[in-house]
Formats: sequence, C-alpha cells, structure tokens
Amino acid sequence: MPELPEVETVRTSLEPILTGRTLERVEIRDGRLTRPLDPVVVAAELEGERVAAVERRGKYLVLRLDTGRALVVHLRMTGSFRGEETPHTRAVLTLDDETRILYRDVRRFGTWLLLEPGEVDAYLDAKLGPEPLGRGFGPRALARALEGRRAPVKAALLDQRTVAGLGNIYVDEALWRARIHPLRPAESLDPDEVVRLHRAIRAALRMGIARQGATLRDYAQPDGSRGGMQHEFKVYGRGGEPCDRCGTPIEKTRAGGRGTWFCPSCQPFYAARSASSSS
Ligand SMILES: [Zn+2]
Repeated sequence: MPELPEVETVRTSLEPILTGRTLERVEIRDGRLTRPLDPVVVAAELEGERVAAVERRGKYLVLRLDTGRALVVHLRMTGSFRGEETPHTRAVLTLDDETRILYRDVRRFGTWLLLEPGEVDAYLDAKLGPEPLGRGFGPRALARALEGRRAPVKAALLDQRTVAGLGNIYVDEALWRARIHPLRPAESLDPDEVVRLHRAIRAALRMGIARQGATLRDYAQPDGSRGGMQHEFKVYGRGGEPCDRCGTPIEKTRAGGRGTWFCPSCQPFYAARSASSSS
C-alpha cells in the first residue's frame, strides 16, 4: 500500500499537470470508487471545476477545487495515476489543455470522495493525527500520542490518528533506525526513545521521499517510472539477511496484524532504560 512518501511522490508529479487546470470531462467507470454515491453524479459535479491546489494529508491526495470543495483520493492497495489505458483504468480526467489523466486500480479498494467546502479539513482531521514532517509534530506530540497505550508500538504507529501517513514499510524502517523492538508496548518507551523514534520516523520518510517512494507490486509514479526506496530497506522484507548495523540476521514476526521485520540484536525487547543514551 502506498504510504506517505509514495503519495507525496504522486502529488509532486500531479501538481504541475493539474494546478490551475479545469476538469473538462470526468469519466468514472467504477462505482466502487465513489461508493455510496453514484459515480455519474460525482463525475458531473467535478466537471467544470478548476483545480486550485494538489495537496497531501497522510496517505490522502487532496485536490482542492476553486469552489472550496475537494476531491479526496485514497489509493489504498493498488490505486495509481498511470499514463496508459488498461482494463484496470477506473477513471479518466480530461483537462482543458486536453491532457488525460488516468486512474488505475487493479484491486479496486481506492476511493474518490468529493467533499463540500467546510467539510474537508474536519473530515481529514477526524481520521488523521499530525503530519510527521510538519511543524506540529515534535517529540512531545509523539509522547502524548503513545501515552497509556499498551498496544505494541508498531500497532500504535500504524494507527493513522497517532501520526498520519505511516504504513507497514516506514514503521518497520523507523523502528529499526530508533532501535526499538516493534512489540514493545507503546507506553513503555522512555523519553529518550521517543526522541529517537521521532527522529527516525522523519528520517525514514525523508529517505522514502528522496527515493521517490518504494516500488512494490503495483505502485509507480504517474509517468510509469518506479521509485527506488526498495533498495534502501534496512529491515522491511529482509528476513534472514544480515542487519546493516550489526550483521545479525533480520527476523520476522507479526505486530498489529502485519508482517514485521526487525533486528533482534539492535532492537531488543527488554530495553535497558539506563542505556538509552547510548544511541
Ligand atoms: Zn542489528
């Protein structure tokens, strides 16, 4: 599933194409995309709208429209904006400069939601915690979000209300960077570990953005090019391979219902509290 860096990469490539353009024709071929609303009705509502800005919030793409409305797109598992027409093309936007933007989704979990002015931020803020790369997200905000939660820290970080935009890949990568075991109860992290984790989340996401995301299965950028983050993984999907830091084979477990990779040596379950300054 695309996570923050992948969605940010999509946003960056769509922004110059869409901003300032009017949606001349909108064709939504799959009713699942706009459920429970009729796709024909949503398409008609979108036609004639001018795109004011292409933003991202967590894993959502937010097309801000001149009328104050917004089209909120979630790519879920396999949604992508791709150049060529395929049987999996679910929607087509034709712009006033005749550019066609195709939305493709093999597994059809993606969603397009048209929100009215005034609904947009409330909708997103109800679902999402702070933006991890934004000014509002400091170690104290992270500490507050983890406080009193007995769930594994991995599960807490997958919860979009803790911090927006993290998924299975970047949580595993961040926990490795922070040297924190994914099954540690979220509430058990000491202040130094929270600071490390905060820094690690940002570093993992920035690396992902710099590499234009990871290409796994179906994700690709709108021009069809592929990200390079998959070559930078420290733990994700690397079971049995040596840890880059200490050489110990990476192990796989489950946390928050997801396959989870970690280094048993760098990320011990029983953290020595007094050793937390050793990073
Ligand atoms: Zn290690």
